[in-house]
Amino acid sequence: MSQVIQFQVTPEQAKNEFFIKNRIKDELNLSNSDFQFVWRKRSIDARKSAIKINCSFEVYIEGEEIPSEKYYCSQNVVNSTEICIIGSGPAGLFAALHAIELGLKPIVFERGKDVRSRRRDLAKLNKESIVNGESNYCFGEGGAGTYSDGKLYTRSKKRGDVLKALKWFVHFGADDDILVDAHPHIGTNKLPHIIVAMREEIINSGGEVHFDSKLTDLIIENGEIKGVEINSENIRMFDNVILATGHSARDIFELLHRKGLQLKAKSFALGVRVEHKQEFIDKIQYSGRLNDEYLPPASYSLVTQVDGQGVYSFCMCPGGIIAPCATSEGEVVTNGWSPSKRNNPYSNSGIVVTVNPEDLPNYSKDNPFIALDFQKSVEKMCWEAAGKTQKVPAQCLKDFVDGKVSISFPRSSYVPGLASVDLNKILPLFIAKRLRKAFVDFDKKMKGFLTNDAVLHAPESRTSSPVQIPRDEVTLEHPDLVGLYPCAEGAGYAGGIISAAIDGIKCVDAIKVKLEK
Ligand SMILES: Cc1cc2nc3c(=O)[nH]c(=O)nc-3n(C[C@H](O)[C@H](O)[C@H](O)COP(=O)(O)OP(=O)(O)OC[C@H]3O[C@@H](n4cnc5c(N)ncnc54)[C@H](O)[C@@H]3O)c2cc1C
Repeated sequence: MSQVIQFQVTPEQAKNEFFIKNRIKDELNLSNSDFQFVWRKRSIDARKSAIKINCSFEVYIEGEEIPSEKYYCSQNVVNSTEICIIGSGPAGLFAALHAIELGLKPIVFERGKDVRSRRRDLAKLNKESIVNGESNYCFGEGGAGTYSDGKLYTRSKKRGDVLKALKWFVHFGADDDILVDAHPHIGTNKLPHIIVAMREEIINSGGEVHFDSKLTDLIIENGEIKGVEINSENIRMFDNVILATGHSARDIFELLHRKGLQLKAKSFALGVRVEHKQEFIDKIQYSGRLNDEYLPPASYSLVTQVDGQGVYSFCMCPGGIIAPCATSEGEVVTNGWSPSKRNNPYSNSGIVVTVNPEDLPNYSKDNPFIALDFQKSVEKMCWEAAGKTQKVPAQCLKDFVDGKVSISFPRSSYVPGLASVDLNKILPLFIAKRLRKAFVDFDKKMKGFLTNDAVLHAPESRTSSPVQIPRDEVTLEHPDLVGLYPCAEGAGYAGGIISAAIDGIKCVDAIKVKLEK
């Protein structure tokens, strides 16, 4: 029987296999070296100045072999029952892979381009401020997940489901450290290869993946889905359609509304993306320790309450870049990513305020688009304020709190450029006010956080969907349309890569149950 053992070591010792092996031997009083071990968990404890690594290992003694496990099992589904999946983000891809596992044939339609062609559109967006409405940081193969940061932590409680999703990432090319680290991270440079490997698996197993293929209509008969219209011309018939189109597919919300299907306004979060120098964050978080080759670039997680509402850091990217994430002309949107080594000199994070539909002017429970319209209006105002390009309205952090327009900026990672504005005048009053108070509080928690060496970029507005597409808790079908499965982030059932992937799997399970009845 294997044994689990836990202890703390220094960051340097944690990287030394020889040291770890001897320590395990001592801890378990093993007389010889005839044992094997695998890491189970690894996390950093930086609460005290002597930083430690918490380690947990599974140890196999007396000639026991480490069990091998096949993370993903494929099969040929070319002649199987077809299911339709709209969107190839984490939810759509994991749904397709799970369909294959269960003997169903996934047909995936994706409005954007394949990973490689998509990269050219991202270059145009960054360098020439040209937004391609079908191919950008949110739309295209792999969805918002492909050029994302690839942090894989989640608030999802079901450890088994999370581990399954992480194991699939490893199967398709991610480093197996993600199965062990408390805060697993893949990195933007590695994600595209993994996404391509997933697509190849789907096609090699007999499934289909169609790019440049946008869902433009639903074929409905007597409250049941019968098929989908793609690019306003091709119709394909399906009894089961997973709608995994993400939170930026505003045309999908409009389509469902036109079809008379229920939608609901939903809370989301909006604010700014703040960028500090990574060295500065390391200094605060690692008690002044700088350039330690055994420690990763430091991160932070901040939260406070202002006027009874939460203000918190979101999607923190150590060693990262702020990216232009608009999905159409006439708007500015920011988000952040980092490469696997997290070796850029900047650290960025969304600092956001919860926005409840009920708190917005002219609230009516009959208007499912109230929060979406608010989100759109802020993105448009920011675009106008920064000169109607992909430049971002920006302000040094202390200047923002003091209400002063910044005269100059430290270097920013945001490639399209910065436009100096007073964000207090651009952002809605209640957002700006809560952010100001929160930054003062964050400075007490992280001394020096509130500095003019940090720059705010606005807005951070696509944190989650401002619209919910309802679904039955058991069948997961839309209450008004048999066979339509609203899925993951766009429908309001996930927030992030792992929870979206898990929801994709869940929708396929629901279809399988229905088909077996
Ligand atoms: C820059 C950036 C960094 C991020 N960093 C992280 C991170 O570190 N960790 C994390 O957990 N999350 C991160 N996220 C968020 C994460 O990417 C999303 O939560 C996740 O991708 C949601 O998955 P999804 O499958 O629900 O939707 P999406 O990934 O949004 O995918 C939806 C797909 O549907 C397609 N689509 C839309 N409409 C149609 C249509 N009409 N017809 C056909 N296809 C359509 C889109 O093109 C898209 O490919 C980041 C996002 C961005 C933009």
